[in-house]
Parts: sequence; C-alpha cells; structure tokens
Amino acid sequence: MKNISVKLRIALWLTLLMGLLAMLLLAFVLMISKMAATETAMSQLSQTVQSNLRQTKMIGGFLELGSDFSFYRNGVSTLIYSREKALLAGRIPISFDVEESFQNGLTRVVSSGDEKFLVLDLWLPMGWEEGVWIRGLIEAPENRRFTFDFLKVALVIMPAFMVLAAFGSYWIVKKAFGPLDSITATAMSINEAQDLSRRVGLPPKKDEFSQLAATFDELFQRLERSFESEKQFAADASHELRTPVSVIKGACEYAEKFDETAEERQETISMIHRQADRMSKLISQLLSMTRLEQGIDPAHLEHIDLNELVRSLCEDQAYDTCRLFLELHEEKLMVSADPALLSRLVQNLVENGFKYGGPDGSVWIAANRRDKEILLEVRDNGIGIPPEQQDKIWRRFYRADSSRSDEGGIGLGLSMVRQIAQAHGGYMTLESVVRVGSVFTLHLPVPEET
Ligand code: ADP
Repeated sequence: MKNISVKLRIALWLTLLMGLLAMLLLAFVLMISKMAATETAMSQLSQTVQSNLRQTKMIGGFLELGSDFSFYRNGVSTLIYSREKALLAGRIPISFDVEESFQNGLTRVVSSGDEKFLVLDLWLPMGWEEGVWIRGLIEAPENRRFTFDFLKVALVIMPAFMVLAAFGSYWIVKKAFGPLDSITATAMSINEAQDLSRRVGLPPKKDEFSQLAATFDELFQRLERSFESEKQFAADASHELRTPVSVIKGACEYAEKFDETAEERQETISMIHRQADRMSKLISQLLSMTRLEQGIDPAHLEHIDLNELVRSLCEDQAYDTCRLFLELHEEKLMVSADPALLSRLVQNLVENGFKYGGPDGSVWIAANRRDKEILLEVRDNGIGIPPEQQDKIWRRFYRADSSRSDEGGIGLGLSMVRQIAQAHGGYMTLESVVRVGSVFTLHLPVPEET
C-alpha cells in the first residue's frame, strides 16, 4: 500500500466506500421492499378471504358459494374446511404440505420446505353447532426466489457499478492532481537542468492545487531573483576585493624594485595602508549586512529618543559643525530601534551628504512625527542624483557614475541603510535634484506605547 500513488489510494478508497454504500443501499432497499411486499400480500390475503367468506353460505345442509367466490385470485388460494378440519373445497398448493392448525383471524407465516406462506383462517359459523373454516394462502414475499432474483440482478450491476466508480474516481482524482504533477515535473526539471527560470505556468484557477502551483511559481521566481542577486553579489564582492589586492601587490613589487629613499617607501606604505583600510571596511560592511540579512545579528529594538540619538552621534563623530545643522525639537521623539544600527544608518547618510556635497556643501538632519510615522530626514545641497539612477543607488556595489567613485566609496552604504530601515519595519525614500541636492528620508512606524 505504501508504494501505491496517492491518486490510486484515493480512488481505491472512494471505490471501497462507494461499494460499501451501494451494499448498504441494497440491503435497505431489500428490507423496505420486503416490508412493503409483505404488507401488500397480507392485505390481498385478508381482502380475498373476507370477500370469499361473504360469498359462502349453508343452505339446507349444503354449502353454497356465490358467483364472486374465487378459489384462486390475486395469488391467494382459498380452501374451505369442515369443523373437523376436512377439506371441503379448494386445492392446496403443491408446495404447501404442512399440517397447520387453524387460528381464527390471525395472519401468520408458515414454512413449508423452502417456501414460506402467509396463512389466514376465518371461522364462518352456521347455526349453533355448525360452521366452516375459510383458509387463505399466499406465497410470502420473503420467498428466497424473490430475494435471489433481486440479488442476481444486483450481482451483475454491482461489479459494473464498482468498475465505473473506480474509473470515475481515478479520473477525477487524476484531473484534480494534474497541477501537482506539473509542479513535480517543473521542480524535477529545475533540479536536473539547474535552470531556475522554468515555471509551472498553469492558468489561474481557484482550486487549491492551482493556487499551490501559482505559489510555487512565485517561489521559483523569488529563488531565481535571490540566486541571481547572490551570484551578482559574489562576483561584485570578489571584484571589489581583487582591486585593492592587485594595487597592494603592484605597490609591493614596485617598492622592491624602485623605492630607494625612506620617503618613497613611506609613500608606498601609506598607499598599502589605504588599500588595506578599504578592504577591511568592505569586509566588515559585507559581514554586518550578511549577519543582519540572515538574522545572525538581528536588530535589538529598544525604546529610545531619536533626537537624543542624533545629537550624541553628531557630537561623537565630531562633524564639522559649520556644515552640519540639526533641526531637532526639544521634546522627545520616541522610536523603537536598535541604537547601534540606527546610528550607522544616520552616519552613512551624513557621510554621503558630505561626500557628495562638495567642499562647501552642508548637511541638515531633521526629525519629525507625521501621522503614523516618525520621519528622519538627511538633506544636502550637493550634486544630486539623476532620476534614472535614483532606484539603482540602493543596490549593493552600485555607484552612480565613474566620477563619483573617486570619492572612495564602495557602494554598500545605501544598501545597508535600506536594510537597516527594513529591519525596523520602516522604509527609505529619496527626493533629489541634480546640482540642487538630495533628501534621504527614513520612515519608521510610531511605537505602540506612544
Ligand atoms: P558609496 O557612497 O560607497 O559609493 P552608497 O551606497 O552610499 O555607496 O551610495 C551609492 C551611490 O549613490 C554613490 O556612489 C553616489 O553616487 C550616490 N549617492 C549616495 N548618496 C548621495 C548624495 N547624498 N548625493 C548624491 N549622490 C549620492
């Protein structure tokens, strides 16, 4: 049974159930029909015997039967017996060969060999002493012959019905399981061909399996996207790491051959230092992003004052106060956030503001509550971002254009900013105009207690 497919198992189960139901139905029909037939036979017997009784008279010591008297009518045989139980008139059916005592007015079942009869006796008194017994006999409907005929028909019909039920239920189940087969086939082909672009592709329907197929398609799509982005990420990360490594290697080889003075060697060492710093920054950023993404280092949310966090961060970082302006209110602005992650987000945005703001550019930080959101804006009057690049800058390793890579960025800052916003149940928006400036806004949900 374990190796039988689910389809076959359901079909077998349904067939068995139907067979059982059909048998129960058959038994029920047999019982009801027997009861109805017995009822009819009894009433026929009673009517015939009563009618014959009315037609029976004794005139001058002789028995006289009316013209409506019938010895055999509606399957009922009528017999007339004397007071001493001697048969006076009528013919006993051949199959009725038992000595049955007379009981006035009681219909009963009498077995005779294989057959059963319904018997009704009525005593017809004639004068003080005399009288006759009128006996009616009818074959009982429970005669095996009747049941046997019925069963014979049922035995022919039942297997046909069962076969039909088996095929019918298998066909219905097979049809219903169709999408599941497609899902399995697609999953297998993805597995074999290592091709995540394949889809089940069933027309949208409301049944459970079609919905499952649609869910699988979405899943395959998400898997494909995340697989592609992982591939891209690995390629970008190795490319980004290869650059400083080759610069360091080149610098070492050059220094070995050509650096003679202490200044020249110092210059090479500082360059190697810068490249090593860049690598270390890249690796640590990648690590924290992966940890956050995979939930290794999840956000530890606390109730904190956003204004306070921004103020102390700016003091700690010792930003140029002539170029950084805080637009914070005195009262507290409570948020549910991880202080370390939120500080990192603000830091990334402020540093970008300075980096892409030019030497005289300024940066403004404002925090506000609007409707059901807490907004933290980091604004600059820098170079701005062209509209076609505004979606792309959030991607890992994306840098707006080559001139900007001179700023020494590695293209992970904003990707991390967005990831941190999402880890807080929030999101980022950007408004930017080229050569006017940019506004990066963090939208956070208002914590429940406030
Ligand atoms: P990085 O600064 O290391 O290059 P980011 O992810 O922080 O990487 O930013 C991605 C790109 O978005 C930057 O290369 C830059 O071109 C653009 N960008 C980010 N912030 C600003 C800003 N305030 N003004 C203009 N361009 C910006």
